[in-house]
Amino acid sequence: PMAVSRTHSVALIPADGIGPEVISAGVQVLETLTKCDGSFSLSFKHYDWSSGTYKATGKYIPDGGLEQLKKHDAILFGAVGAPDVPDHISLWGLRLAICQGFQQYANVRPTKIFRGTESPLRKAEHGDLDWVIVRENSEGEYAGQGGRSHRGHPWETATEVAIFSRHGIDRIMRFAFETAQKRPRKLLTVVTKSNAQRNGMVLWDEVAQEVAKEYPDVKWDKMLVDAMTCRMVLDPKSIDTIVASNLHADILSDLAAALAGSIGIAPTSNLDPSRQYPSMFEPIHGSAFDITGQGVANPVGTFWTASEMLIWLGEEEAAKIMMDAVETVTGRGLMTRDLGGKARTQDVTEAVCEELVEIY
Ligand code: ATP
Ligand code: MG
Repeated sequence: PMAVSRTHSVALIPADGIGPEVISAGVQVLETLTKCDGSFSLSFKHYDWSSGTYKATGKYIPDGGLEQLKKHDAILFGAVGAPDVPDHISLWGLRLAICQGFQQYANVRPTKIFRGTESPLRKAEHGDLDWVIVRENSEGEYAGQGGRSHRGHPWETATEVAIFSRHGIDRIMRFAFETAQKRPRKLLTVVTKSNAQRNGMVLWDEVAQEVAKEYPDVKWDKMLVDAMTCRMVLDPKSIDTIVASNLHADILSDLAAALAGSIGIAPTSNLDPSRQYPSMFEPIHGSAFDITGQGVANPVGTFWTASEMLIWLGEEEAAKIMMDAVETVTGRGLMTRDLGGKARTQDVTEAVCEELVEIY
């Protein structure tokens, strides 16, 4: 074997539900890939942070946990959430704590229809739907600002304050224009709700207008989020890159995943584009306790996630080979139940590994 010139250090946080199952599938494929490829290696460190540790210790992340994580080049994350912990506790306790602690302000969610798989859109097939959603990941509607007063009284009120800063909008807008610019069609749709949300969303429109001037080769348009949901269903081919606020992009990306055929195939990257901190990569699906432990979770979302992580680490070639292997396997009709197949997590994982050996 060739001498290994590069090593990337990856933190693994499988966490809850099917998280450990899909992360272990992902690691299996990544280990096969690096062994076949030989030009780089990955070192993994496992962090046992989950709703289980929260219930035992009262903390998702132990003291000094973020300091430990900081040493890695990337974080591969499974899913967080448990039936007996309120969702807002688990989400803020682990996932959002890392996103905010490491200034991962850009959340990137690509969507496509895999070869051999079916979209619920009758007329859409492989190649017809190929999107990247760029989600503002640090402020907006999920800034965590607000509060409750007069708890329990009939006159109780709660405020949920959305924060939009020029700085925050400007940096995600630039990131989105750059993402669109690198893609073949150079097409960007800026999604807002500036007719009803007349402060933050209007600022969003204004910043878009300004930033767009610096990217004259990118064709861009504006769309209200409600109209955008219709366009995604009725005219998917007209869309390429989308940028939207934290809440809006959250909703649009679940719709995108469903239109691509399953929530089990799509990845999310939580990026700190300044590269001061490690970025975090995770499948978009949650902990899915209804299928946990059955060995039927779709690992494709984690494979795509791992491939996006490799691109971020500069291993574009290996990332592409990995996706080729995955699509060859889905193209042969080997897929899990959520995509209409009968294969188990391990069947798909082994098939992808065999395909990698074949390719190299
Ligand atoms: P969380 O609370 O963590 O978001 P959840 O229980 O809401 O988790 P999701 O992960 O959002 O579950 O999944 C919604 C549905 O999609 C579940 O019924 C689950 O069975 C299915 N699903 C999610 N991920 C996968 C996967 N990787 N493979 C197969 N089915 C999946
Ligand atoms: Mg969910």
